[in-house]
Amino acid sequence: MIKRILITGGAGFLGSHLCERLVAEGHDVICLDNFFTSQKTNIQHLLGKPNFEVLRHDITLPIFLEVDQIYNMACPAAPGHYQYNPIKTIKTSVLGSINMLGVAKRCGAKILQASTSEVYGDPEVHPQVESYRGSVNPIGIRACYDEGKRVAETLFMDYHRSNNVDVRIVRIFNTYGPRMHPYDGRVVSNFIRQALGNEDITIFGDGSQTRSFCYRNDLVDAIITMMNNENHFVGPVNIGNPTEFTILELAQKVIELAGSSSQLMHKPLPSDDPTRRRPDISLAKRELGWEPKIALAEGLQHTLDWFRSIKLQDYRPPTPNYN
Ligand code: NAD
Ligand code: UDP
Repeated sequence: MIKRILITGGAGFLGSHLCERLVAEGHDVICLDNFFTSQKTNIQHLLGKPNFEVLRHDITLPIFLEVDQIYNMACPAAPGHYQYNPIKTIKTSVLGSINMLGVAKRCGAKILQASTSEVYGDPEVHPQVESYRGSVNPIGIRACYDEGKRVAETLFMDYHRSNNVDVRIVRIFNTYGPRMHPYDGRVVSNFIRQALGNEDITIFGDGSQTRSFCYRNDLVDAIITMMNNENHFVGPVNIGNPTEFTILELAQKVIELAGSSSQLMHKPLPSDDPTRRRPDISLAKRELGWEPKIALAEGLQHTLDWFRSIKLQDYRPPTPNYN
């Protein structure tokens, strides 16, 4: 059945792919974005389609819409982006969630929250399971994002319990792919941009910290499945690729796949940088029948191809501290 679907942050890296998929499925899609960390080029190919429209709006302000489903993806996601204006970041998670949950409550819409592995902070439990309550520094430089997303989960569960709002919560682990902002400062975009330019690859710390990288198509499959699951499974559920790499291993892979002559350069490790991160995805497998299909080498190849096809000067760094 055709649904009216609101995607907040719909012009962003993940949001634009979600728009693309749901437009192709024939749904009536509203992409809402303030374009803080994204470009119109991400959704340009969808403009003009009769089942797609764009609203320039900030979710920290109320809005009146009639929809059946809401994917709440709006929030700067890269550390350099969310630390640029930390107070705005936490407002986006908290006020934005209240506003979107209000729309869901009024319309009886189903609403999915893009939460994050950051709710686990610098984890003492490895791999991370959903029942682990996390280790977040509430006064550190990542707190505006981590604590904002934690409060958003609280709001989602309280609207669910108190107001019967039909909610879904996914905890997304590091996801990469075409349409990442090339200057977002995240590790995959930095390494690819540096490798293609034969510039030094910036390793923060000794590079022994780990991350587990999920390709964007796998992620989009998972969140659509989560939204539409028939079991009324609310989550939170971890979504990510459970294959873990050190940052040094990632650098070596990117250099090799890019055929680059880049050298490694060490920079100080930012404070509160999590040392290990890997999702336990047993719950997603059991409840959603989902697991990722795309291995790092294949996903990096697609991402490299996309980075080769863009013009870096078309991208506006939203923050000066991207390196
Ligand atoms: P992104 O920065 O590309 O997308 C975020 C989008 O939200 C952008 O288009 C931005 O302009 C918009 N936005 C930001 N603040 C807004 C506001 N106040 N009002 C309206 N729009 C606003 O990042 P992404 O990687 O696509 O992340 C999408 C969502 O997924 C975010 O909520 C993020 O926290 C979550 N997430 C992503 C990852 C990942 O690895 N990519 C991991 C965990 C969680
Ligand atoms: N990192 C790095 N060099 C870079 C960018 C990031 O070594 O140029 C490291 C960063 O310190 C972290 C990991 O890569 O340990 C992932 O960083 P990212 O900003 O992509 O996401 P995070 O998972 O930390 O939110």
